[in-house]
Amino acid sequence: MDNIRIIPVSHCLLNPYSKVKSSIDYSNVSKEIIMPLLKKGYGILQLPCPELCHGGLQRWGQARRQYDNPFYHQHCRELACGVAAQLEEYLRCSIPVGPILGIEGSPSCAITCSFDGNWGGELTASCVQNLMQYPLESRAESGVFMKLLQELLKEKKLNIAFLGVNEENLEQSRVSILEFLGVRA
Ligand code: SF4
Repeated sequence: MDNIRIIPVSHCLLNPYSKVKSSIDYSNVSKEIIMPLLKKGYGILQLPCPELCHGGLQRWGQARRQYDNPFYHQHCRELACGVAAQLEEYLRCSIPVGPILGIEGSPSCAITCSFDGNWGGELTASCVQNLMQYPLESRAESGVFMKLLQELLKEKKLNIAFLGVNEENLEQSRVSILEFLGVRA
């Protein structure tokens, strides 16, 4: 098969229901991003959703710095270890891997920019008012999970590219991915 390749993808690219409840409906992402890759014959490896496995489906949306703590790091590192071992095995057997597709903006799964803000505290009316004074800002850094996965792959000397999907511009994201892979839509 010409297109034998494994493409690891953020969990919600296949399963949008893992996202924070009531977040914007991006349920067309799979159709726009994953379907063209499946049609090319690539293997899609669904990464775990670090936030779902940590805070469940009823978690609040959080800023990056809230997740950037030793306990969440440990949780993400455990998940990333399992992923890195799988990727290592594909590469050991000469099956190309990548790019790893993340979700831009996510405090956990972003590749180049994640949302951050001085958030925290009890969700009282006054706290919510305070949050308005500290709106989320884009920070030029990977999400916590992807950053740990990048570090782990580096430790293992596995050279795998990462690309971020911009859910607000799926067409551009699809073009960038296909260009990276050197294939046409
Ligand atoms: S971006 Fe990552 S943490 Fe957020 S829903 Fe998707 S897989 Fe889960």
